[in-house]
Amino acid sequence: MNYRREVHKVYKTDGLSLGEKQRLFTRMVADLILFAYENGYELTVGDAYRDPRVFGKVGDKLHYSSANSLHKSRLAIDLNLFKDGQFLTRTSDHQPLGEYWESIGGTWGGRFTNADGNHYSIEHNGRK
Ligand SMILES: [Zn+2]
Repeated sequence: MNYRREVHKVYKTDGLSLGEKQRLFTRMVADLILFAYENGYELTVGDAYRDPRVFGKVGDKLHYSSANSLHKSRLAIDLNLFKDGQFLTRTSDHQPLGEYWESIGGTWGGRFTNADGNHYSIEHNGRK
């Protein structure tokens, strides 16, 4: 299959403040969502922001979130992937979206040592 997206922007995240990155991240997620739908997928939103009042501050491990999760910094989102009404749960199912996300400047959880295929983030202070 030839995956495509009409407008292909590459975003630069280096040197941005946290607030600038958060706003750019949201813009990039919009592109990722459009890419998915333009290529025959559907999505639902999983975890996006993880409130530190529930999950602990950055560096603190509380509930199911990792201590340094970028979800706590509004720089990560988990997306549930569907095609033809089927819920696709494998990391490999997310590969086209992951490669697109990387091509526009993001970090894809499918590359993590413990692969997390539905996780899309942008790096911040060495956290992925
Ligand atoms: Zn995640």
